[in-house]
Amino acid sequence: MRKKAIYMTVKEQLIASIETNIDAYMEIVQTLYDNPEIGNEEFETMKLLVSYLTKAGFDTQSAYIVPTGFLGTYDTHKPGPTIAVMCEYDALPEVGHGCGHNLIAAIGVATGEAVKGIIDQFGGKLLVVGTPAEENFGGKVSMAEAGVFDAVDVALMVHPGVKNGVGGRSNALNPIKFEFFGKNAHGCHPDLGRSALDAAVMSYLQINLLRQFAKPHTYIHGIIKDGGQAANVIPGYASLEYYFRAPTMSYAKYLTERANKAVEGICLANDVTFKTSTYECPYEDTLINYTLADILMEKYQEIGLTDIAPVEEVAAGSTDVGAVSYKCPTIQGNIKIADSHVGAHTKEMAAATISPDGKKGLISAAKGLALTILELLENPELLAAVKAEHQETIKKALTLDSLA
Ligand SMILES: [Zn+2]
Repeated sequence: MRKKAIYMTVKEQLIASIETNIDAYMEIVQTLYDNPEIGNEEFETMKLLVSYLTKAGFDTQSAYIVPTGFLGTYDTHKPGPTIAVMCEYDALPEVGHGCGHNLIAAIGVATGEAVKGIIDQFGGKLLVVGTPAEENFGGKVSMAEAGVFDAVDVALMVHPGVKNGVGGRSNALNPIKFEFFGKNAHGCHPDLGRSALDAAVMSYLQINLLRQFAKPHTYIHGIIKDGGQAANVIPGYASLEYYFRAPTMSYAKYLTERANKAVEGICLANDVTFKTSTYECPYEDTLINYTLADILMEKYQEIGLTDIAPVEEVAAGSTDVGAVSYKCPTIQGNIKIADSHVGAHTKEMAAATISPDGKKGLISAAKGLALTILELLENPELLAAVKAEHQETIKKALTLDSLA
């Protein structure tokens, strides 16, 4: 047998690692597809991924920061950058892995295993971070707050969908609950009561009117969560749940403040009181690192991908990746696994993860990420440029006038 491996370039080693282990990665995709677990309940998924990484030679920690979070670490004990590959793995109710996070998990593991095989030649530390509950509780937000990404030089992941791309912005999301407190009374003695529902309904209408005066690419959407229990009782309690989304968190908070003022006036008019609370995890907007995006674009082209979308400047939706992007240079690329008519969060998208296109996507995404990491390891000046851009972007984001 020829000892071909000895003569492999580092790049060939990365690619070989991904290609030779592909069956194991697809087994992960399939197992998660068959056993979807929703956010914060991904205990079996965490066990599976941790056990794979342990066998692959990573030091692992389960229940890391959050109950279903994990950390895989491979330290070369030589100076060098700290690179974090992020895995998502939460499913959705009804549609299982309709957002393809089972594939994200396998892409992260495949990238991690490939880079682990070569990083000793360069130095530094490799992390595979299991970030659960992207869809509901924002595992990355808890992790970012706990300092997981403070010493990380670059964090990377790829999300599957209907196109190839180098990522894009995401909306900041401020989830606010308005609770109204009036006074119960018999429906035929309304003079003794104060309707919390009336205040809620008027607030709902007034917040709708606010939309016209909000800047483009902002979204305000809400529901009446509680509106009373019986028609013959003046409701003493009512509540609204809202998402305020905007290109920046400062603008999302500005819109929330406008809504608060409106609700305050309405409560005065209805002689009721109110309070607000943050009822879900707020998501920061995603800061783009164009230097990183350029590298991923180059690597995607190098492995033969076509139709690669450039950075998408207009955000659609929100993600907890935003929180990471405020801590370190971050990229979330995209990989096509389904035709454009397949919607996100559908059973069809879940099925695409276990299809031949899903497998192709896994291979391409892992190669794209691994080669991007290799570029950063080989080229410290490029890494320095990535970090300098991040500093600059963060400064701008944090000093941005909320009305700008
Ligand atoms: Zn997703």
